[in-house]
Amino acid sequence: MTSASTRLTSLWDDAKAQAMTEPEKLLYRSNLLGSDKRVTNYGGGNTSAKVMEDDPLTGEKAEVLWVKGSGGDVGSIKMDGFATLYMDKLRALKGKYRGVEFEDEMVGYLPHCTFNLNPRAASIDTPLHAYVPKKHVDHMHPDAIIAIAAARDSKALTQEIFGNDIGWLPW
Ligand SMILES: [Zn+2]
Repeated sequence: MTSASTRLTSLWDDAKAQAMTEPEKLLYRSNLLGSDKRVTNYGGGNTSAKVMEDDPLTGEKAEVLWVKGSGGDVGSIKMDGFATLYMDKLRALKGKYRGVEFEDEMVGYLPHCTFNLNPRAASIDTPLHAYVPKKHVDHMHPDAIIAIAAARDSKALTQEIFGNDIGWLPW
């Protein structure tokens, strides 16, 4: 039985984060999450935030996905490690999707969604982070969860251990 006292302590410091911009807060929590190998293995996991930015072309506000770029590690990532993409263009990609057997071709469309000429290449995690309808989406690769996910009966095991707290996807 999991209780609050057995969970890892949050390292987040409101006082430190107070003066930060949204991208700076994303960087801050990425480095915190990645600094503890119980939370994620080296190079594993990805973090993202959907942020309203000034569009350099129109001067209007645009919703922009900040998400860890291809390669790199959330524990040591710097601001230039994040790719930035227009959310409206990412949503438009749903119209290009031809099904699971053509998934690889979707990666080729990601550069077309780049915001502000950011040269950091977007990773294959980008659609996952774009389409989960939440402003902040982090996913981690803890060894303990990988062990459950890699087990033969992973779906039943997940249900047995976590009940309805954690979902299971065949991906
Ligand atoms: Zn992952």
